[in-house]
Amino acid sequence: MKLATITNWAYGSTLALTLISGVTMLFASQAQEKERHAVAERHTLDTATAHINNDVLKLTEHARQYINTGKLNYKIAYQGNFDDLSSVEQRSRSVAQAGATPTEIALLKDAISAADTLHDEQSAAIAAFESGDETQARRLLFGPEYERELDNIANMIGRFQDRLDQRIAGEIQEATDIADIWKRISEIALAITALMFLCVLYFVFKLRVLRPVVKLSDVVNRLAAQDFAVEPPVIAQIDEIGDMAQAIRIFRENGLERQRLEAERNQDRQNRDLISRMTQRMQGCDSLNDLTKVIERFLPEIAPTRAGRLYIIDPSRNAVNEVCNWSSPQLSEPEFPPTACWALRRGILHHPSSGNIDVPCPHLAIREDPPSVPDTLCLPLLSQRETIGLLYLETHEGEVTSDIRPRSDVYLQMIAENIGLAVGNLQLREKLREMAMIDPLTSLSNRRRLNTVMDVELARAAKFEETISCLMIDIDHFKHFNDKFGHEAGDYVLKSVGKLLQHATRDPEMAFRYGGEEFLLLLPGFGTETALTRAEQIRQKVADMTLIHSGQELGSISISVGLATAPEQCGYNTVARKADDALRKAKELGRNRVEVAMQKNQRNNKKSA
Ligand code: GH3
Ligand code: MG
Ligand code: MG
Repeated sequence: MKLATITNWAYGSTLALTLISGVTMLFASQAQEKERHAVAERHTLDTATAHINNDVLKLTEHARQYINTGKLNYKIAYQGNFDDLSSVEQRSRSVAQAGATPTEIALLKDAISAADTLHDEQSAAIAAFESGDETQARRLLFGPEYERELDNIANMIGRFQDRLDQRIAGEIQEATDIADIWKRISEIALAITALMFLCVLYFVFKLRVLRPVVKLSDVVNRLAAQDFAVEPPVIAQIDEIGDMAQAIRIFRENGLERQRLEAERNQDRQNRDLISRMTQRMQGCDSLNDLTKVIERFLPEIAPTRAGRLYIIDPSRNAVNEVCNWSSPQLSEPEFPPTACWALRRGILHHPSSGNIDVPCPHLAIREDPPSVPDTLCLPLLSQRETIGLLYLETHEGEVTSDIRPRSDVYLQMIAENIGLAVGNLQLREKLREMAMIDPLTSLSNRRRLNTVMDVELARAAKFEETISCLMIDIDHFKHFNDKFGHEAGDYVLKSVGKLLQHATRDPEMAFRYGGEEFLLLLPGFGTETALTRAEQIRQKVADMTLIHSGQELGSISISVGLATAPEQCGYNTVARKADDALRKAKELGRNRVEVAMQKNQRNNKKSA
């Protein structure tokens, strides 16, 4: 109920009670008026009665004084009073007009009649005195008979007054009683009004105003101190306080929403910071190994409730292989064909548990009984519009994904894009490095790679004091061959010899195109004998090669080989130079042969000879 309604009801009730009080007071006043009237009536009757008695006494007094003194003025006074007397009817009428009852008037009339009888005796006494019979006059006026008559009149008036007193006292009592009753009723009505007023005040100000206001004030203070955990009281009353409580509730909800948005913004900023740092670190990576360390370090921070794996698609594009994982993923296989992932098939994010009906990827080990669609996320890694790998994330069963919400997919896609770019860059860099190190014609490592490998291999052999042999190979009369069959045929021959040399070493990485039509083979662990045997085999195989290019028989070719072995014939650092010396010697000695570098002591002997 609205406060206004309560107040209106209170006003109405107070007005009604006030009217009741007014009416009762009116009645009380009427009763008092009656009482006053009765008192006034009594006073009037008392006055009227007193006049009758006074008249009797005055006339008696004047007559007696005239007889005692014989002075005429007493007789004049007597006569004056006597003349003033009105008739019995007139005197009794005034009493009747004053409110006396007929019985009372009858009583009074008797007293007046008795008084009139006394007048006769007074007149007789005066007449007797004037006629000189003073004795008769005195007997008449001072005799016992006259006194009895006086007493009789006094008694009659006394009876009349008693009767009057009784009646009027009764009337006054009755009027007083009624006035008291109305007064009491009026007081009770007033008391009820006052009580009701107090109750309304109590109800309105304590129960409906003070208590809710105190509660709301507490809530407002806590809300002002940014404490939005405070629960506003539920005030169902439909009035201004209820409206205020509703407004405070809305204010709190807005505050909570603001807080949530702020937390989200902070989380957002943190995530962007993390992603930015992760991207910077990834850009500084020199190898896939470095990259996986960055990913393993950052992704559990960015998405703490998710485990995951990073996959790279095999160059053959037949398999997707895991390169790293974090937080123990359970559901996805470490290796699977690219067709087993919907994200790889379609080249876009695949999130089967996103709320829309979707198919889980076949590379997931999904529980059949009871069937469940786990919260998994597959993000393809793209580079130069080509899918090169997959970022896979899963939420552990029972755990709610609360990280980087509500834009987790956007952020994870951003991360996948950055990882894709980083992996793509690494692969590109690797390709360029390979291209810089590989001879495009023969697919053998080139001289640049040789320098690096040679340093490593010679250092290792020197460290462990192992033998290492080096074969320097040159095609004989190649210029002539080119001239005879053309440059393309020459290229074909170079390619064929390269392929042969690639298979002549345990490690194909150890065969190099040294330049032009010259090749170099490194044979770690080979002594002079074994290396010589291998060199002879190679020379023989080249000689046995059947070379046909563009349908044209090219005949056979031969190679000359210089062999040097460290530390048998030379130091580790000079093995290539010594092999070259031996090659030159082979050329000098007629080509199509293997020549071994001179032993140290042979050289010394030769010098001394
Ligand atoms: P020798 O037996 O003394 O080694 O005689 P040679 O003719 O093989 O040696 P020379 O150094 O005089 O000539 C080497 C030739 O190899 C010259 C060049 O035309 C040829 N050559 C070098 N690189 C290539 C190449 O990439 N392709 C082709 N077709 N020929 C090449
Ligand atoms: Mg040459
Ligand atoms: Mg040559």
